[in-house]
Amino acid sequence: MELYELDLYEASKGIKDKKFSPKELFESCKKRIDSCEDKIHAFITRTDGTAPVTENPNGIFAGVPTVLKDNLCTNGIRTTAASKILGNWKPPYDATAWKYLREAGAVLMGKVNMDEFAMGNTCGNSAFGPTHNPNDISRVPGGSSGGSAAAVSAGYVPFSLGSDTGGSIRQPASYCGVYGMKPTYGMVSRYGLISYGSSLDQIGPFARTIRDLQLVMSVLAQYDPMDSSCFREKNPDFTHNEDASIKGKRIALVKEFQNFTLDAPIAEAMKKTQKVLENNGAVITEVSLPVVSKYAVACYYALAMSEAHTNLERYDGVRYGYTVNDAAGIKEMFERVRSYGFGSEVKSRIIAGTCLTEPSRCDEYYVAATKVRTLIAQEFIRAFGECDFILQPVTPSLPHKIGEEDEDAMKGYETDLYTLPVNLAGLPGLSFFTGYDDATKLPVGLQLIGPRWSDSEILNAGMILERHLGSPKIANGGVK
Ligand code: GLN
Repeated sequence: MELYELDLYEASKGIKDKKFSPKELFESCKKRIDSCEDKIHAFITRTDGTAPVTENPNGIFAGVPTVLKDNLCTNGIRTTAASKILGNWKPPYDATAWKYLREAGAVLMGKVNMDEFAMGNTCGNSAFGPTHNPNDISRVPGGSSGGSAAAVSAGYVPFSLGSDTGGSIRQPASYCGVYGMKPTYGMVSRYGLISYGSSLDQIGPFARTIRDLQLVMSVLAQYDPMDSSCFREKNPDFTHNEDASIKGKRIALVKEFQNFTLDAPIAEAMKKTQKVLENNGAVITEVSLPVVSKYAVACYYALAMSEAHTNLERYDGVRYGYTVNDAAGIKEMFERVRSYGFGSEVKSRIIAGTCLTEPSRCDEYYVAATKVRTLIAQEFIRAFGECDFILQPVTPSLPHKIGEEDEDAMKGYETDLYTLPVNLAGLPGLSFFTGYDDATKLPVGLQLIGPRWSDSEILNAGMILERHLGSPKIANGGVK
């Protein structure tokens, strides 16, 4: 067994017990990266050129390597959001989430690929080219946090961070065969996360075991005065508890979702998972989410695009990154910087967001979407009066081949149906591994969601699922 194969818990324990040194673990992960990276292409910027620096040799992650999605600011290290517009911008400060990991002793191996400004679900909308799925390099890893999921799946690092605005942690976790947690909105500080849709964005972890997600959440879930939406007066407890039980828990399926088609491996995983839940004492029930099933996709994209168009106004060639010095005036400068700097998906969303919020149409579109969002949040509150968790797919199908994206952007948006309602209502969602599809050998993931602040209970249920469904293996990364 190689050291890179250890999960986070084992790696940090091994270092504390002096079974191996941080340097040995670092070298093993680095070697793994070197052998797979030309096939996977998870990195935008590698920072593993020099020996590991552990800021806190006594921290719970002392000496454990990690990677960050490239929309998390890192002091003095290039942060691109996978866009040309940021050029070689080096933030003068750390995102709080990274600061907490760093202070717990984690070692940064680099910044990883994503869809530009987190807009997409394939990791193909990157100015740095696509990332490949380590389980089958002809396929997409999912997105937008594709690099973070691929890095954990390929065994580069035992855990990573991504962000989830409408599914960007849960969908790539499922496509790559790892666990991914989208925390309750407000559970993790967004300070230093490059904004996409600020009312939807949330940072969260990827790992190969539930216990590791619990470890990372125990460090991330701390109040931060730098993010006004960050929780106060909550005391989340992510302690791993082998005795946690789901006995008597009511786990619901969504009535309306059962009319939608799922690829066979996902439909089978749903059945298999229900059995595991029932065998462990849970009761399978049903809830109805009519507004979610009809309007969530339109509502999400109207809000996400409106917020994105406002958030992305700041990229003007003056404050950050890429600029031109020979423009005739400020208007020409803005035009040239933004025309060259943004990719086509980002541009089309900025234009859509401009139209949706334009004064004469704002009530009809943006304001209407905010009202639908309230209905969606209320619908979930009602549903969670009748059940403890909801079990649902992450996506309707397994990852497609790179280059086989739908020409029709709307079709791609619609595949986010199962993930984006969670962000609209600010809920926590866990993407968990259920096994490998026999025919394609691809991993199949599903999702468990719960009411606001039920993150640790969801992880407890996830632990029971992992015990019975098995943990994912490190993917071959295209090399062996
Ligand atoms: N696919 C969705 C979008 O493009 C969600 C992306 C995300 O969660 N960042 O908006």
